[in-house]
Amino acid sequence: MRILVSNDDGIYSPGIAALAEVAAEFGTVRVVAPDVERSSSSHSITASRPLSYRATRVGSFSAYRVDGTPADCVALGAHLWGQVDLVLSGLNMGLNLGSSIWHSGTLAAAKQAAMLGLRGVALSAPATADVDFAPYKPWLREAIQTVLASPLRLVNINFPREPRGLLWTRVSVRQYDGKIVPTLDPMGRELYWFTVTPLQGAEEGTDRWALEQGWISLTPLGLDLTDESGLAAARQRQPLDELRAHTLSPPRSSPEAAKSVREDEAAAPLEDHSGDGTRQPHPA
Ligand code: MN
Repeated sequence: MRILVSNDDGIYSPGIAALAEVAAEFGTVRVVAPDVERSSSSHSITASRPLSYRATRVGSFSAYRVDGTPADCVALGAHLWGQVDLVLSGLNMGLNLGSSIWHSGTLAAAKQAAMLGLRGVALSAPATADVDFAPYKPWLREAIQTVLASPLRLVNINFPREPRGLLWTRVSVRQYDGKIVPTLDPMGRELYWFTVTPLQGAEEGTDRWALEQGWISLTPLGLDLTDESGLAAARQRQPLDELRAHTLSPPRSSPEAAKSVREDEAAAPLEDHSGDGTRQPHPA
């Protein structure tokens, strides 16, 4: 089994070395990770410039540091290695619970794997954990084994300080822990921190609740964010043009229609029309 190991703390984080060591018990490991810390970079990709990598070492493993985001690293790593069976992202130095799934670069690397049709697992430890991560290694092993024994494609795993065992959980979204904290610069001008504050009182069965109780949390995630019950209710309560669309539009779009939308998704290609080197948007 080929296991690509990535993270968002940067390739020289002690967490990625600890994860690579445990991963090596399950297959052949290659480390492909950002050259600098990219925490909270979410699922951004580098679309405005090309990517490059440099070979390096992480412990005894071949490693590649990429001048890109966690998602870039997984896409590039999977491309260069050919077949990849599993992507492990972490071990992040800081938990990724609840709404932080929207901000986390650790989870984005795992999500990128799932989007490529691979298996992705994000693994996060307390920010306070000792950097040798020795007490976590047996638990890392058990968590990876658990996911591999399941058919799940995308799992977010968090480890408490002193684990008691493992639980399947759902995302805790009842509370949001991001808030703006104003401060002043040396000239007395206002500045703002977008920060997170610790929350308590999470609901039973959620990732945050599991961590509060000392359990390792395994949250299966899906890529489809559609609110299914909201959609069904909206179609019933406020029917739009669904009936007309059913009559007028075939279930599968024509290649021309699909091509047209793909063109609308990307910026128009640039062409030189001026003769003086000034570049203008393509008129089509
Ligand atoms: Mn991080």
